[in-house]
Amino acid sequence: MPKNSKGIEVAEIIKDRCMACQICIGECPVEAIELTREGVAEIDPEVCVGCGKCADVCPVEAVAFDRSKRRSVKPKRKKPRPRTEYVAVYIEQKDDQGADVAWELVGKARELAAKLQARVIGLVPGSGLDKVLNDAGAYGCDEVHCLEHECLASYVSFTYGHALTHLVTEIRPDILLVGATSQGRDLAGIVATHLKTGLTADCTGLDIEEETGLLLMTRPTFGGNIMATIFCEERRPQMSTVRPKVMPPPPREEGRDFSLVRHEWEPPKGKYPSIVEYIEDVSRLGMDITQYPVLVVAGRGACDPGSYPLLEELAGLLGGAVACSRPVVESGFMPYERQVGQTGKTVAPKLYIGIGVSGAIQHRVAIQGASRIMAVNTDSSAPIFQIADVGIVGDYTRVLPELISQIKQRMNVNA
Ligand SMILES: Cc1cc2nc3c(=O)[nH]c(=O)nc-3n(C[C@H](O)[C@H](O)[C@H](O)COP(=O)(O)OP(=O)(O)OC[C@H]3O[C@@H](n4cnc5c(N)ncnc54)[C@H](O)[C@@H]3O)c2cc1C
Ligand code: SF4
Ligand code: SF4
Repeated sequence: MPKNSKGIEVAEIIKDRCMACQICIGECPVEAIELTREGVAEIDPEVCVGCGKCADVCPVEAVAFDRSKRRSVKPKRKKPRPRTEYVAVYIEQKDDQGADVAWELVGKARELAAKLQARVIGLVPGSGLDKVLNDAGAYGCDEVHCLEHECLASYVSFTYGHALTHLVTEIRPDILLVGATSQGRDLAGIVATHLKTGLTADCTGLDIEEETGLLLMTRPTFGGNIMATIFCEERRPQMSTVRPKVMPPPPREEGRDFSLVRHEWEPPKGKYPSIVEYIEDVSRLGMDITQYPVLVVAGRGACDPGSYPLLEELAGLLGGAVACSRPVVESGFMPYERQVGQTGKTVAPKLYIGIGVSGAIQHRVAIQGASRIMAVNTDSSAPIFQIADVGIVGDYTRVLPELISQIKQRMNVNA
């Protein structure tokens, strides 16, 4: 083991094993580890105090360290921050209609705020706002702060970026949650840059660390093989985006008490982009698999044009739609809009039926909001069975006709 100039035996990165997950960087108590331009971790031997923590946490054993030489180091105490007053949610809206993900985040914000004894704030920039402000109160905001201006009638990154930054600067929330829609992803990046704070994208879990009151932001990383929990100690607000359908929506409470605050705002001066032509949102015209209560999801095992009538019939009987895994899209059998998964859509149907889906982590992260999971697979050791409420081991070409026939019998539908 190499020694530094103080004679301390230090840890060393095995470069061809390191996959740059950065877990060791967060764990090192003396900030001795950095990521190099080549994309591997590197330890500064002169800073390293030989505690061996990096070797303990590395998931791929890419740190060479003799644990018998471990030196104990006083843990760096995290300074408890003053308790926060506000947990804010960006309320995405279009034509005065709030996006579902905004309400899902308000529900999560309530949980977080309860742990911090804070208030839930809805931030709504836009124009012609009325219904959405009332909805924000009904779904759980204690205060709704809106900023109306005609230049905010349609979403433009530049104006919305300034408007939301203005609201955040006035209110100074400790936490800001934004839906990971195409608009939210764009906006969150702009606001985080304006405010010089950190942003954790695509979180699947949010919680509060009891001791410090910090927001713990959990998200899959490295193709979903590792769940990383990230926190932002120094900068405020702590910002996170969350995909639609990951958090359950809160109940709506009509007539719930909340305060409405209208903010003044001067749009930024100078030339900025304006809408030249409005193009209809094509996703509204195509199929939106997130809206169906039942999804029959074809995997590679059922990726055969001959399977489609069976999948369609089963989905039709249950009032659902046919979706698929990534290989099915890659094969050209189904369009991308039907893909479920980390690089497709996150879904939360009442019933998910996986047909010939193995249940890879990149697929599973997107179905964890499903109320019930049923799987049909020839391989009894397929990972999907670990999370399935009902599993049928068998060939779908035999299982599906039987399933369809039994459902028809129970529904009294003529075969
Ligand atoms: C960065 C990244 C992002 C990704 N994003 C996504 C994503 O968004 N969505 C996604 O789905 N994947 C995604 N993947 C791919 C993912 O890793 C898996 O490869 C994929 O989910 C596997 O799809 P599958 O289950 O359909 O196929 P397979 O893993 O090949 O499984 C097919 C299953 O069908 C079963 N089977 C075979 N024949 C039959 C039969 N006759 N009857 C019943 N069962 C049968 C087999 O036993 C097997 O379990 C991503 C991967 C990476 C690295
Ligand atoms: S041994 Fe301890 S001090 Fe040295 S790099 Fe690893 S975590 Fe940091
Ligand atoms: S934890 Fe291991 S794999 Fe991850 S950056 Fe550190 S050395 Fe590399």
